[in-house]
Amino acid sequence: MKKVSFIAPCYNEELVINEYYRRVSAVAEKHPGYDFEFIIVNDGSKDNSAEILNRLADSDKRVKVLHFAANQGHQTALFAGIEHAHGDINIALDIDLQDPPELFEVFAEKIEAGFDVVHAQRSKRVKESWFKLITARIFYKLLRFTANIELIENCADFRAFSKPARETICTFREKHKFLRGMFVLIGFRQTIIQYERDARFDGETKYTLSKMISLAFDAVFSFSQFPIRLILLVSMSMWGISFIYLLWVIVSYFFYQSTVSGWASIVFLQIFFTGLILFFLAVIGSYIGRIYEQGQNRPPYWLISSRNLDNEKNF
Ligand code: UDP
Ligand code: MG
Repeated sequence: MKKVSFIAPCYNEELVINEYYRRVSAVAEKHPGYDFEFIIVNDGSKDNSAEILNRLADSDKRVKVLHFAANQGHQTALFAGIEHAHGDINIALDIDLQDPPELFEVFAEKIEAGFDVVHAQRSKRVKESWFKLITARIFYKLLRFTANIELIENCADFRAFSKPARETICTFREKHKFLRGMFVLIGFRQTIIQYERDARFDGETKYTLSKMISLAFDAVFSFSQFPIRLILLVSMSMWGISFIYLLWVIVSYFFYQSTVSGWASIVFLQIFFTGLILFFLAVIGSYIGRIYEQGQNRPPYWLISSRNLDNEKNF
């Protein structure tokens, strides 16, 4: 019997876990031809999520839970789930039910037809704030402009993937993971399906502004050297401009005998260029910081306990 793994990260989701379980087990019931497992990664929740998850895991062995000892963020939590999945068909989705688990039918059809990665693309977003919509739009535009890979617009982390694709993703060792980029990068046979993104079942978004910004930085700095190339581009144009300026100074000295009285403009330029230099130092610093973190080689996550995993860990 083919195995199916649903993989969901979970951070402070006490209001939605039971409903998520109800929905995925209904999908399992509808498809008795497959052997299901429901992997849930508790990303260091501070509410009652851990107790609710443990109760589910104790009553249903298909529920497998990893409890992070500290919050590591959505991408790392999802990656940990992917590392522990066994599916011939693996489905990554949010636990808040914005990604309907019932799409399994379409995913399964595509994977059975020989595709390795099936991206689910939102055809429309329901009931999300204008702020979320605008920031998401800027995010995709920015990435399209800078990243070296052809990212799929309106495609986040809801996707299905085969065993070979899963095993390949698991070999990626970068600390700052940007999974939607990595899944495009690996190649294999890929396809896109459309779906309507639902509103969150309950609770509030766990993606704070700072988490969104750090995801955007991860995307740019892990998939692009454009910011570094930009330094060269800007410095060359600066040289060009300064050369033209020099010519103008010489010409005005010989032909107009005008003296330069622009103290203010010099101060302005001084501040402007100092700012520019600091900005580019920050760009370089961001890459070096990432090299440093990679060099430290800390584990991406660590568990406080787990339920129903192959090698059980209970402290
Ligand atoms: N999440 C997580 N760790 C975090 C933030 C979020 O595991 O630090 C999970 C969250 O529980 C949910 C998914 O990631 O299952 C997506 O988060 P959310 O729904 O809050 O983001 P949004 O859909 O608003 O972008
Ligand atoms: Mg959500």
